[in-house]
Formats: sequence, C-alpha cells, structure tokens
Amino acid sequence: MSVSIAIDGPAGAGKSTIAKLVAEKLHMIYVDTGAMYRAMGLHFHRKGISPEDEAAICAACKEADISITYEDGAQQVLLNGENVTGYLRTEEAGKMASATSGYAKVREKLVELQQKLAAEKSVVMDGRDIGTVVLPRADVKIYLTASVEARARRRFLELEEKGVPCRLEEIAADIEKRDYQDMHRENSPLKQAEDAVYLDSSEMTVKEVTDAIIDVLFRKKMAERGRTGSLDDALEELIKKECGQG
Ligand code: C5P
Repeated sequence: MSVSIAIDGPAGAGKSTIAKLVAEKLHMIYVDTGAMYRAMGLHFHRKGISPEDEAAICAACKEADISITYEDGAQQVLLNGENVTGYLRTEEAGKMASATSGYAKVREKLVELQQKLAAEKSVVMDGRDIGTVVLPRADVKIYLTASVEARARRRFLELEEKGVPCRLEEIAADIEKRDYQDMHRENSPLKQAEDAVYLDSSEMTVKEVTDAIIDVLFRKKMAERGRTGSLDDALEELIKKECGQG
C-alpha cells in the first residue's frame, strides 16, 4: 500500500524545503516536479528556441527524455542521459520553465512520468497541479502559500547569502509575474484543489509547517481506522506499514 502527499502552491512558498522534510520524516520519496519543468526549459534554452514558438517547443519536447534517479536520497534529473540537476535552480531555467509549462505537450509528458513514480512508491510530490491533476486521489493535499512580500524577502536573503547581487523590488515583481503566468494559463493553472488544506506560511517556521502537514496525514489515517492512541506510536506504525520505505 502506498501513501501520497500532494503539495501545491506558488513560487517561493517553501514547498520544496517542506516537502523534503516531510518525506524524510515519513521515509517517503520526495518528487520535485518543478525540476522536471526546469529540465524541459533547459532543453529548450540550449536549443535556442523562443518560448513563444509553440510548434518548435512541441517538436523539441519529443526529443527530450527526462528521467529521475536518487543519490543519497536527493532527486537527480537526467535530460537525455545527462545529469542536469546542477543547472536547474538558475533564474533562466525557472523563467523558461514557467513560460513553457503551459503547453499541453510539455505537461502530458511530465504528468505521465509523475503518475508513474507515484504508482510505484509512497511520495511527497510538490508542484502546481499535483492535487488537481497529477494525483487527484492523494491521501493529503496541501495548498501552501505565503504573501508576495514574505516570499520575496526569503528569496532575497537566500541570494544575498550566496553573494548574488539582487534587488528586493525586482524579486517581488518577478514572483508576481510568475504567479500570474502559473494561475492564468489555460492548461492546469495553479489553483487550490477543493479538498486541499490551505496553509499560509508567511508567519510560520519551517518546523511548524512540516508538523502541520504530518498532522493532517496522521489525523486522516487515524480517522480511517477509527482509533485513538499516542501520536508517536501511530506515526511509527504509519511509517512502517503504509509509507513503506521505513
Ligand atoms: O517549482 P518551480 O519554481 O521549480 O517550478 C518552475 C516552473 O515550472 C513553475 O513556474 C511552473 O510554471 C512550472 N511547474 C508547473 N507544474 C508543476 C511544477 C512546476 O507548471 N507541477
């Protein structure tokens, strides 16, 4: 039996940090679907294709073989056999991913890969359409968001720490643009699934958000079994019996 947790939300809400921690704690596999769209974006960028050229994007999509492996628990993305993980977190890859992720051909290919991964293993998967399209029957769905100000501030501090020169206003404008693109596209726009739990992380610590998500799963499983007991025992049982990789 496998368990799935879907975490959706806008750029910079902390989805990957949180999803990684939840997966670690529950001994599940973390699947970062944004990295797949970024790898696709990198492929188009390398081929010099304009994101507006839908025909060329669709043609190039066919030649991109994207697969996932894990090294010491960390997701690695392979593009036509090359490990491109190190190139994916750049602003260029993110912008190209956001500008091309609305095309049906791009989505079809990646959604199929994501559903295959979830069918084989217990997963914590984060993205934009996981609860609505990829895993509509996920055990837990979370819509994780934060104010534009909070998300821009976090990104600013991250870049500052890396010594990358940046301006807070520019980061905020970029986040707003990406939100708009992701929420207003025709194919699988970012939106909260009806049965998702809404979490605003603007004023929450990473630990608080992680614990809140585990708590949602735990309560759901307890309710399904109609039992009571200590939180720790039930969590241990859940990891051993259901998450499957304990
Ligand atoms: O989450 P991340 O910033 O890495 O995602 C990059 C881009 O990939 C997003 O802006 C979005 O356009 C796209 N994406 C998507 N569906 C997903 C995950 C990411 O459309 N499930």
